[in-house]
Amino acid sequence: MKKKTTVLSCPVDLLDENEALKLSKESIEEKRNFHIITINPEMIMNAQNNSSFFNILNSSDLNIADGVGVKIALKLKGISQNQIRGVDFSRKLIQLASNDKYRVGFLGAKEEVIQKTKENFLKQYPSLEIVYSRNGYFQNDDEIIKEIVDANPQIMLVGLGSPKQEEFIVKLKEKLSGCVMVGVGGSFDVFSGIVKESPEIYRKLGLEWLYRTVKQPERFRRIFPTLPIFLIKCIIDTVIKKG
Ligand code: UDP
Repeated sequence: MKKKTTVLSCPVDLLDENEALKLSKESIEEKRNFHIITINPEMIMNAQNNSSFFNILNSSDLNIADGVGVKIALKLKGISQNQIRGVDFSRKLIQLASNDKYRVGFLGAKEEVIQKTKENFLKQYPSLEIVYSRNGYFQNDDEIIKEIVDANPQIMLVGLGSPKQEEFIVKLKEKLSGCVMVGVGGSFDVFSGIVKESPEIYRKLGLEWLYRTVKQPERFRRIFPTLPIFLIKCIIDTVIKKG
């Protein structure tokens, strides 16, 4: 049985990266679809007044704790959970694909980003079977879904930003079989080398968001006031539930 909890009524699975990888592998071997959400405070806040996104968070197969905000929210509930960074988890999935010869697909980001991502992974894993790759700027979801179904990937990384990528995966899941599907946000920008990953010290201190905001100031509006409001709501929620 998977251990689960909720943060502001949204489900979060309590497991480590290796357990998440093991579940992914099992689902591929058993030809089941598996939708993984790397859940962060922005998504949880979005779900508070967007019932269709709330339903998506409740119908996915695994919500892994990304974002230091979720780690802090869990700590407030007395739960110690390591942050599983979406970028790291996706890299592990690619490594798994290379070892176990699973077909992979990439959808998202700008054309030069997705090309460079493909090139970088093939340099690292020359035998990686990339059966699909496409930039994330398109009009007709159904056309793209058909292309992906024809390519038949077993691991599909979708980086369209949230909630677009989760909504897309829900539709894709109805048509595919035996595929692990993960919304990876801006990870392709990192894989391509076009956006620099935050230095390890920032990651260790849980200050990745600060580094990314300084490098891309346009992110400021997304983080503030969402992150502080998220934390205040979590504190209130914890106090009410204890009282
Ligand atoms: N993106 C896309 N299609 C769109 C909108 C965005 O492919 O219609 C891509 C964008 O190029 C970027 C990613 O989605 O690579 C979103 O990155 P963001 O940093 O917003 O995501 P986060 O990691 O914060 O979830």
